[in-house]
Amino acid sequence: MSSNLKKEIAELFAGWFNDDLKYKIRTAEKIKHIQRICHGLALKSGWWKPEDTQDPKTFAVKLCLIHSEISEAMEGDRKGLKDDHLPQRDMREVELADAVIRIFDLAGAYDMDLGGAIVEKLTYNQQRADHKLENRAKEGGKAY
Ligand SMILES: [Mg+2]
Repeated sequence: MSSNLKKEIAELFAGWFNDDLKYKIRTAEKIKHIQRICHGLALKSGWWKPEDTQDPKTFAVKLCLIHSEISEAMEGDRKGLKDDHLPQRDMREVELADAVIRIFDLAGAYDMDLGGAIVEKLTYNQQRADHKLENRAKEGGKAY
């Protein structure tokens, strides 16, 4: 790991663990920015019709498409494949990117605050007793 990357990670964790609210809000806004890009590009490419979000099955169909990307990542990992479209990258990496792009697109279509939810959930998870290393090491603790 490069010293620049170590420094960057140290700064990230300092902002996070100091419970700096502004830092967390900025983090949520950055995530929201990525969500807007993913959904905006999907709209521009014609993947959404205006009435789609009125159909109660649309959300489920889009979730299945996210599952398909995860399954492709699993196959890429299982077979140690490179990606067809980005051969410089591992297939599992590109398929995970596809899944994240689809998740952000879906959240954007339903005007969700995924950035805020991620920051709140990360914050909550840090205080969960069942996520603490010492509790996970106990009999019956979460092994993974
Ligand atoms: Mg894919």
